[in-house]
Amino acid sequence: MNVLVINAGSSSLKYQLLDTTTHEVKAKGNCERIGINDSFIGHEERGQKSKMDVELPNHRVAVQYVFEILKGAGFDINSIEGIGHRVVQGGWYFSKSEVVTDDTLQKVREVAPLAPLHNYAEADVIEICRDLFPSIGNVIVPDTAFHFNMPEKASRYALPRDVVDKYHIRKYGAHGTSHRYIWYLTHKLMGEKTHKLISCHIGSGASLCAIQDGKSMDTTMGLTPLDGLIMGTRTGTIDPATVFYLYRVGGYSIDEIDTMMNKQSGLRALSDISSDSRDIEQAASEGNEHCQMTLKMFYYRIAQLIAEMAQSMHGFDTIVFTAGIGENSELTRAEVAKELAWLGIKIDVEKNKVRSDEPRIISTDDSAATVLVVPTNEELMIAMDVEDLLGK
Ligand code: ADP
Repeated sequence: MNVLVINAGSSSLKYQLLDTTTHEVKAKGNCERIGINDSFIGHEERGQKSKMDVELPNHRVAVQYVFEILKGAGFDINSIEGIGHRVVQGGWYFSKSEVVTDDTLQKVREVAPLAPLHNYAEADVIEICRDLFPSIGNVIVPDTAFHFNMPEKASRYALPRDVVDKYHIRKYGAHGTSHRYIWYLTHKLMGEKTHKLISCHIGSGASLCAIQDGKSMDTTMGLTPLDGLIMGTRTGTIDPATVFYLYRVGGYSIDEIDTMMNKQSGLRALSDISSDSRDIEQAASEGNEHCQMTLKMFYYRIAQLIAEMAQSMHGFDTIVFTAGIGENSELTRAEVAKELAWLGIKIDVEKNKVRSDEPRIISTDDSAATVLVVPTNEELMIAMDVEDLLGK
């Protein structure tokens, strides 16, 4: 089945045309700077990349361009049998992917205050697709759905019950589609050897998920993606009273603190040079002490929260590294494993060096748990959901 996967943000729109039978990516691209000046579309098919400078005043024009580009490249638009939409926040409504109806759209908008930069744009794009291509079915794949049914002891916050109920406050988590894919592929590879898996999605945004027999038992992101690990520009977990302190004593506004904690903190703030782990690894190897400490903190937090995830399952048999840093940074995997040596985790130096797009085991035979690198593929997971819901 040919599925178009769309991942819309407030000023961007990523797309991928996938065949769910062969898993082939037929074309993909990104509309950038929608509604801002200097907008463009980067498109890629059959290994050829192109960049088009086009005016993208809004998402409607962007969607129209995507279909025009696909048509121009010779794809039969009528062969697209479904559109899968990544939805960042499914809130208190969605425990799984769903075929879009008017009711779905209304719910995506209703929970949008939890992720305003994403959900409104996503709902708009779904509406545009339904309007422009009424014969193609749409499916939403909420990133939070995988965590929806995690045990209450993990998802509930110790706040007054009336406040929690009124504002729907809980741990929603994120990266659910990636964590679900990691379970799907790892379990396919490892079979009965994997029951308790800790999925480490470590990119610019980063979260861990404890997955027991395919169910999310706990995750490190919270009401929003700010919680948990130290990320590219996010603080991760810090004492929430830091917010009151900065507000009352520092004189910062709530918006300033929001920006500081989401966009100016994490690796960027600690290293003083970059939010990109490659730059920090490089500088650390050249003796930059800030960067050396940044990396120490980064690895320590990952290991610490791996232990936290393990508690939710009373153990673990598998650890998977994925996403930009998890898939590519040999150093991160080696140093996290060193932190976890007291638990009997051992990785093989040579296997850890291998660079590949294939899933692979990197632990030693006598490691207490199997450690793997598994490239994530959220788009494929979304396309497979579309096929499940529309293809049969
Ligand atoms: P997101 O999807 O959250 O934007 P990614 O999963 O693309 O993030 O991850 C981005 C991070 O991955 C960056 O910090 C980048 O440095 C890191 N990364 C990408 N490639 C490599 C590499 N070859 N070696 C080390 N880190 C890498």
